[in-house]
Amino acid sequence: MLDRAARLRQLTEVDQDVIGLAQGPQFARWLEQITASGGCAHPVHLTGATTVRDSYSGEILHHYDTTGEPGERLLVRCRNRRATVCAPCSRLHAGDTFHLVRAGLVGGKAVPADVRQHPRLFVTLTAPGFGPVHRITAETERCRPRRDAGHCEHGRSTGCTTHHTSTDPRVGQPLCPDCYDYSGHVLWHAHTGELWARFARSVRRALASAAGIAQTRFPDHARLSFAKVAEYQRRAAIHVHAVVRLDGPAGPHDPPPPWATADALTAAVRTAARVVLVHIPYSPATGEHALRWGTQLDARPLRSFNDGDGLADDAVAAYVAKYVTKGAADTAAGTDYRLTSVDDIETAPVSPHLRSLMRACWRLGGLPEFEPLRLRAWAHTLGYRGHILTKSRAYSTTYATLRAERADHERTAAGADLPDDPGAVTHANWRYIGSGHTRGAALIAAGVAEDLARNREIAHEEISRWAVD
Ligand SMILES: [Zn+2]
Ligand SMILES: [Zn+2]
Ligand SMILES: [Zn+2]
Repeated sequence: MLDRAARLRQLTEVDQDVIGLAQGPQFARWLEQITASGGCAHPVHLTGATTVRDSYSGEILHHYDTTGEPGERLLVRCRNRRATVCAPCSRLHAGDTFHLVRAGLVGGKAVPADVRQHPRLFVTLTAPGFGPVHRITAETERCRPRRDAGHCEHGRSTGCTTHHTSTDPRVGQPLCPDCYDYSGHVLWHAHTGELWARFARSVRRALASAAGIAQTRFPDHARLSFAKVAEYQRRAAIHVHAVVRLDGPAGPHDPPPPWATADALTAAVRTAARVVLVHIPYSPATGEHALRWGTQLDARPLRSFNDGDGLADDAVAAYVAKYVTKGAADTAAGTDYRLTSVDDIETAPVSPHLRSLMRACWRLGGLPEFEPLRLRAWAHTLGYRGHILTKSRAYSTTYATLRAERADHERTAAGADLPDDPGAVTHANWRYIGSGHTRGAALIAAGVAEDLARNREIAHEEISRWAVD
């Protein structure tokens, strides 16, 4: 018979690691930490202490430090929103996004349920064309059928008679990369924040003029709130999906004025999307550019209580949440990491089209006239500098509030159950000492995350069943 050491040597490195962990004297406590972090794939390791004293007597009310913890450390969530980086934390983030968007649509989380009666639209603003790209087509349809198809100056056909399925790597790639306006594409990305700001102003202006009130008086009559997400299309240009809501001047608690209807809001959105323009002054490298939204625009009213038309609130919130957790790998969004050199661009695992966009960022980013756009720092997102989700202040709750709600649970789970006493003074001293898992620990954490996800699904099914009954 093999002795224990010999048997262990026959196991893979991961198995040995798992066994080593499971036989450790503090395995149960370690597993508690993994569970408390939701099975996070890249937890942050902290060391330190928190002491709570009575502010009057100085008596210690509570003390927690990591000296007694496995490895003298506490593991906390990485909180990454991308499923490709950390699936459990991205699920958590998706949940937060869902609640944040949903609260702005139907109320909850300190937003009154009356917002459901306010005019609300789901709007999609697109990017303009920068050159023809291959597209997904129905089986009977062709990509770019053109009776007069000729050749561009680079000798490439200006039409395409292929039927592309969604898995075809040519989808989203330009018919001619040399004709494609890469400078225009990345400059447009770099200005989407400005385009959105002008769009929002223009919506207010159009509403004011339709209602016959002075533009400067708009804030006295109504308030425009929104939450928006950026989504990369196959051609690697972003679309903006936004929930736009019209409240009374004080925000969600205030009913909108009688003229503020969904129709008025829709008309204002359509006008604004058409007229907004950002002019880029002449540069020897790019010429002049006039940036606008694409002509494709979708603006649909959201369904309120008793009427069957439009989109359902929950579906929209779920839809928005889905985009926020997509990483660069599931979208055409570049890379999940920053690019710091031309070599990084040449070796990035991306399509030729994305590489050309990254090169355009690098090239333009080196020119003094485009310095404020920081195109090199944002080459990995193809020039887009915004967050994936942004919202106006009055829209609904914040990620911070949702996290604070959850922090109570996490503190309890981590054994640091702090009293909430106004007469108490908390002294905390924490230090970052590392992150991530060993391969064995990663395997266990993934199992824990799977269990938690399954439990949530079961709980969700139970709730749905109750709701149906
Ligand atoms: Zn994580
Ligand atoms: Zn094609
Ligand atoms: Zn060409």
